[in-house]
Amino acid sequence: MAERKVIQGDFLKFLGTAGARFVMIKQLRRSGGIWLRAQGANIIIDPGPGSLVRCLASRPKLEPSELNAIILTHRHIDHCNDVNVMIEAMTEGGFKKRGIVFCPADAVKGDPVIFKYARGYVEKTVMLKERCDYRVGDFTFRTSMRHIHPAETYGLKFDLNGRSVGLMTDTKAFKGLKTFYKVHTLIMSVVFPERRPAIDHLSLEEAQELIKELKPRQAVLTHFGMRMLAADPAAQARRLTQALGIEVIAATDGLTIT
Ligand SMILES: [Zn+2]
Repeated sequence: MAERKVIQGDFLKFLGTAGARFVMIKQLRRSGGIWLRAQGANIIIDPGPGSLVRCLASRPKLEPSELNAIILTHRHIDHCNDVNVMIEAMTEGGFKKRGIVFCPADAVKGDPVIFKYARGYVEKTVMLKERCDYRVGDFTFRTSMRHIHPAETYGLKFDLNGRSVGLMTDTKAFKGLKTFYKVHTLIMSVVFPERRPAIDHLSLEEAQELIKELKPRQAVLTHFGMRMLAADPAAQARRLTQALGIEVIAATDGLTIT
């Protein structure tokens, strides 16, 4: 019998690196979000389309019934499509009331992306606010200031194996953004190569400026749109590494950071 491989210690794994519509709907990159294991908690962040499938297909398998929490940074479908099915998986079909869902208030108001019945399956649903601390067992995380993006959106900061990680999810670049993201490892949603001021997303040009100012030990680019894929994210990451003298990585589907 094959031995079940396990990832030792705390880690985060990219179950997808797709950004924006076309890369997602064509599944040129997968869109399952990020699985995080830290301080004894299993958490999925932004379970986009295919998240459940990506968990079960992961080697070693990531078991959704072992989840302790689900975090949505915002309600866009590439970040939340699988949230209801992940709640079903976390609660074993609703038979075990457990787990916490963290989301901005607009994920459950008006036209909710998290169904009311599914919210009844979990221990609690916590509305995220800007610059607040939250807890899942021994694991804690902090939200950023509200990002500039068409939905209520917050970035995250937490520790992984004693090092700080920032998740700069979808946002327009704005003055003050960098105040929150002084971290060891900075994960950035970089949707397109050149600046597009009319669109509330980060370009590679802006990401480069932010990395230069913030000086993380490591920057990880993800959430790629069509034009980023065409520009070859790995080659762009190498170019930034050379230009800035800071390790810049382009995330790939399945990339694990320990
Ligand atoms: Zn978005």
